[in-house]
Amino acid sequence: MPRRCYSESPIDGDLATLDGSEAHHLLHVLRAAPGMSVTLFDGSGREFDAEVTACKRSTVELAITERREVDRELPHPLVLGIALPKGDRQRWIVEKSVELGVSRLVPLITERSEKQGGDKLVRYVVEASKQCGRNRLMEIVEPMRWSDWLDADIRSVGGVFAADFAHHAEPLRFRRWVAHPTGHRPTAAALAEQRPTLVAIGPEGGLSDAEVEAAVAAGWDVVGLGERILRIETAALGLVACLTIPSGA
Ligand code: SAM
Repeated sequence: MPRRCYSESPIDGDLATLDGSEAHHLLHVLRAAPGMSVTLFDGSGREFDAEVTACKRSTVELAITERREVDRELPHPLVLGIALPKGDRQRWIVEKSVELGVSRLVPLITERSEKQGGDKLVRYVVEASKQCGRNRLMEIVEPMRWSDWLDADIRSVGGVFAADFAHHAEPLRFRRWVAHPTGHRPTAAALAEQRPTLVAIGPEGGLSDAEVEAAVAAGWDVVGLGERILRIETAALGLVACLTIPSGA
């Protein structure tokens, strides 16, 4: 399979130019040379076959040979609100969220959360998208306070994927689940149901009683994930995997 490269600029014509870290990787790690085939994506949902035509000091020029729409997104938006832990664990969460198809990640500011946000998270999204074949980038938005997050609906936090729902004729049937050890276990039928979904995962120290009560008052369902206390990343990816991995016929 040709290597996948991400173009930050939208690809419109028959030529593309890569610069920055993508060009650096092609030039200095993969030793790109004219004639090399790559697959390009620009985050718009399209995928392009391309051939390297010129390698300059810090840029790579390519000719587009074919373009196609390739949809590897979930059938409905899935938004993960999460009080991110520190360090490398963030990278793991972002990477696996991209792989599993999360449409948008919202870092959450809660009573006990670490400092949220950071530019490097977007780089993790690009790297994971290159690896897993996604042609749209999972969005990471500015950190949101718990109280604002509780008022969110899929139109306000669903990102580009929610645009499809903005003018939906039917009333929007999205669901909102907050994971907490005292919650009820979701049924197999509920997990299998394909619906726009917001999921919330608390910080290492847990959500406070007041935060859980506020969630219930705002209409969120509190879901439990079993008898054991899971770390943030296990809870997040365990629940996201249950909601996203399709069952066979
Ligand atoms: N002592 C904390 C508590 O009781 O909430 C543990 C927090 S846990 C490390 C981090 C987050 O993962 C929690 O806020 C919750 O969202 C989720 N989580 C962990 N284990 C869970 C479980 N068994 N059921 C539901 N959610 C869980």
